[in-house]
Amino acid sequence: MKDNKTLLAQANHYINPSSGGIVPPIDPSVTFARDDDLELIGNYVYGRYSNPTYEQLEGIICELEGGEKALFFASGLAAIAAVFETVNMGEHIVAPKVMYHGTVDWLKRISEKRNIELTLFDPSDPTNLTRSLIPGKTAIVWIESPINPSWDVIDIEKAADDTHAAGAILGVDGTAASPISTQALNLGADIVFHSATKYLNGHSDLNAGVLVTGAVNKCWEEIVDVRRLTGGILGSFEAWLLLRGMRTLSIRWQRSCESAMQIAEFLEEHPAVERVLYPGLPSHPSHEIAKRQMTNGFGGMMSLQMKRGQEAAREFVTRAKVFVRATSLGGVESLIEHRRTVEGPHSEVPVNLIRLSVGIESVEDLIEDLRQALEGL
Ligand SMILES: *Cc1c(COP(=O)(O)O)cnc(C)c1O
Repeated sequence: MKDNKTLLAQANHYINPSSGGIVPPIDPSVTFARDDDLELIGNYVYGRYSNPTYEQLEGIICELEGGEKALFFASGLAAIAAVFETVNMGEHIVAPKVMYHGTVDWLKRISEKRNIELTLFDPSDPTNLTRSLIPGKTAIVWIESPINPSWDVIDIEKAADDTHAAGAILGVDGTAASPISTQALNLGADIVFHSATKYLNGHSDLNAGVLVTGAVNKCWEEIVDVRRLTGGILGSFEAWLLLRGMRTLSIRWQRSCESAMQIAEFLEEHPAVERVLYPGLPSHPSHEIAKRQMTNGFGGMMSLQMKRGQEAAREFVTRAKVFVRATSLGGVESLIEHRRTVEGPHSEVPVNLIRLSVGIESVEDLIEDLRQALEGL
């Protein structure tokens, strides 16, 4: 197997068979011609079903994750919605109670509308996942690794064993770990998801989501139908941009991890800071699992809680000059946000919590910015 860094940098050693070009072309066609016998010339019919530009991308992410098939969607949430579209009335879904807020909001909506039972468990005690399962009724267990914004790391191998024993499917949102650091399918997950808007693309200039499956089974075939019938596909131009962004994933990831570790250590020593949540720190409750599961860096995401509460937290964010005051993650530019303000009044995130996404700038500039913004708070 090729190393991921080589695979990414070369877009899977792409060479155009007719021109020798080393950059994959965009094929924006939404319809595909037939020959004299009215047979399809290629394997393509219509843009909403598939297109050569998506297939290049899908091939690369499959290799990265060690999966069998992949599907890209117009956004992360379009991909997540397609997964839950496979759950029938009367079945049951299990997920952590604090995770990416869009996913929780979607799960609450479908469970109310479709008579699907939803158990949202507290992930700070990992046995809660096991206790939430209802054998024969649970259809999907959905977890994040690490979980936003506590960055708790759930043991995927254990979650997969328990989920399978209950006859359910395990889906893992690996957005914050990136495929460089966690191989969820190899650990037993059935489906891995990434918001490709984040680390995969890395340049904060497109929305995309991807699902990768370990095996083509009934659930996967249904997801393929859902994308085809609901139309949440990625545009060809976005697919191409993403292919370009992914070429530098490994080096962006590595830099973010290195800087994030230094920033986490700086913040942990700061008197204005009550607590730093970063899985790379020995003080993080999930550090031991993270060391085993995040085999290539702990990522660029962390949260910190301010000693003086909400006011100090908001003031800290407003003083940032290098960190950009915006939501999202995984881009080359570092971001800072007061998470409760971003999620809105129904949020369960502590009011004194700040979320940082560490990019690839000079780490000295980033630390200096945090130092000046924390002065006297
Ligand atoms: C951003 C994000 C999503 C949703 O992805 P979009 O591309 O914004 O739809 C899902 N999960 C996590 C962990 C995310 O960070």
